[in-house]
Amino acid sequence: MSEFSLIEDIRALFESIPKNNFEGIGDDCAVLPIGNNEALLFTSDMLNEGIHFLPERVSAHDIGYKAVMVNISDIAAMGATPVATLLSIALPKRYGEEWAKGFIEGYRKASAEFGVTLVGGDTTASASDIIISVTAIGRAPMQNIKRRNGAKVGDTILVGGVLGGSAAGLRDILRGECDTANALTHRLPQAQVREGELLGSESKVHAMMDISDGIASDLRHILKASGVGAIVDLERMPTCSTIEDALCGGEEYKLLLTVASDAEKEIIERCYTATGTLLCAIGTITEGNDIEWRRNGERIDVEYRGYEHF
Ligand code: ADP
Ligand code: MG
Repeated sequence: MSEFSLIEDIRALFESIPKNNFEGIGDDCAVLPIGNNEALLFTSDMLNEGIHFLPERVSAHDIGYKAVMVNISDIAAMGATPVATLLSIALPKRYGEEWAKGFIEGYRKASAEFGVTLVGGDTTASASDIIISVTAIGRAPMQNIKRRNGAKVGDTILVGGVLGGSAAGLRDILRGECDTANALTHRLPQAQVREGELLGSESKVHAMMDISDGIASDLRHILKASGVGAIVDLERMPTCSTIEDALCGGEEYKLLLTVASDAEKEIIERCYTATGTLLCAIGTITEGNDIEWRRNGERIDVEYRGYEHF
């Protein structure tokens, strides 16, 4: 059993139950059209002690901050605007009031940065570890919503900035160096909310998602959903670490998108002018169904894989 085969089994089990106008499972968010050409979007992500964070290394504040950012990143990934979250937290007794206070301060800080309100949740004790589950809600005009299945042959593949910092930062943190630039990238990821909204309004952006498990894995989701392949030029990969960290490192929370090649330049320019984020072209969508990795035009024989939980 893999993470993705389990999700596929769950999806298949619910095929015979009415969808009640919802679009999902399978994309970064579930989508519910609400009339007036608008939709609400829903997404949920967990942060679990020992799996996503080590409380002895990372402060409660940073965990709270990250819990919001990783969730609203999935809203941005579909071109929508995050508006609210629900927070469920199970806290073992050994973490007192101080931990909870720090957590909620970080959670509030990230929420305030994008005007996202907290509208509910659940608070319980935990018999073992800290378990955090956040649901984020977004909204968008229907025509702005970008899915994983829209990539077209000939599209340029773009990423929303420099990759590999989160994976390298995690290694720094595990070595006890918690304040390096990469460690900060890992501890305090910045969801590309403004970028996502802007790219949602661009009709020549065809497919979009956020990078949570590493490009090597996440780009394959776009390819599978769109029924296409890709060439990725490794020498163009923007990275502040190794190429392996850039391709396989999870928890980047940067946007990954495909755009009509004739609009590539103007979209990069508009995104940079409006947000300061430099989108970087890393390859091309092709016919086929897999990724061909190239370096300086030469095909190379490697198999990069992203992160899978099991
Ligand atoms: P992301 O990395 O963008 O959060 P995931 O890879 O976690 O997306 O999930 C892929 C898809 O499967 C998403 O549409 C998500 O909502 C759905 N999904 C994941 N776990 C479950 C589950 N336990 N039940 C129903 N849907 C799920
Ligand atoms: Mg995602």
